[in-house]
Amino acid sequence: MSIQWFPGHMNSARKQAEEQMEFIDLVVEVLDARLPEASCNPLVDRMRQFRQRPVLKVLNKIDLADPNATAAWKAYYDALPGVTAYPMTTKKPLDVARLPALALSLAPHRGVPTKPLRIMIMGIPNVGKSTLMNALLKKRVAKVGDEPAVTKVQQKLYLDKHTVLVDTPGLMWPKIDMPSDGLMLAASHAIGTNALIEEEVAFFLGDVLLERYPQLLTARYGFKTEGLDGIGVVEQVAARRGFRARGGEFDVEKAAHVLLHDYRSGAIGRISLETPDSRARRLAVHAAEKAEKERLAAEKAAAKAEEAARGKRGT
Ligand code: GDP
Repeated sequence: MSIQWFPGHMNSARKQAEEQMEFIDLVVEVLDARLPEASCNPLVDRMRQFRQRPVLKVLNKIDLADPNATAAWKAYYDALPGVTAYPMTTKKPLDVARLPALALSLAPHRGVPTKPLRIMIMGIPNVGKSTLMNALLKKRVAKVGDEPAVTKVQQKLYLDKHTVLVDTPGLMWPKIDMPSDGLMLAASHAIGTNALIEEEVAFFLGDVLLERYPQLLTARYGFKTEGLDGIGVVEQVAARRGFRARGGEFDVEKAAHVLLHDYRSGAIGRISLETPDSRARRLAVHAAEKAEKERLAAEKAAAKAEEAARGKRGT
């Protein structure tokens, strides 16, 4: 399965962001700390590099993320040119309060009334952009919602005399290259799901939890994880919670919903779906699979051409 999501307004969002990039000094890119690269729109980096703008990568929702993974991501991003990472949660006023000074330190030539620091807040839906803006401005200016893609209208707001915020509507990439990224985003609620996809997403989440946090699963639901796979995790949740469908078999749909809800709310614990290392491994596997697919396609095309040539020769 491959999750794709690219509504029309995303296209205009891209155009707007491209135009705005010329008139800003710093990109504040909000990412989900639990899945920083999967929740990162590669277009943002391409656009900002084209205009040579630095980026502050806000690793938001650290209250839900694994602190070790977050520390690894910070080190990873800080080592990249023009990139500074800031792990934070909008739930902590102090984390929010520290952001403007940090932003200014990345564009020190700005920040006076005649030359205010112009910040563009970017990021895919549901990473916490509106919440961050509201907290920065200490009043309700943007609608906050738990459904994807609530932020739709562009706004320009003075944070203080020295800082202007430009908010950009949520951006997603036109094509999610790695299927696991779609699944991570769906698990974390950046992409809307239906019941059918929800089960597949829960199986995927079950696999990740088994690999990285089996002890949290046992602590939360009380089952042993040995010998299970992602489907088995969801079935065990159903068994432990007594979720049965009419025929007596496990109500997998309900258990999938509960597992996802527990992950999203942090009830299972502080969980990160990827680390720089796990990301590198996934990328390597994905590249190898892609190369193999291309090799097979080329082989097939060659065989077809050979067959056609033979047909022409009449052999
Ligand atoms: P946007 O679409 O990027 O503007 O995201 P929103 O600001 O609407 O936030 C999406 C959801 O994430 C809302 O339910 C917020 O309450 C929640 N949220 C935002 N920041 C945090 C955070 O630091 N921690 C947690 N746990 N939830 C957050």
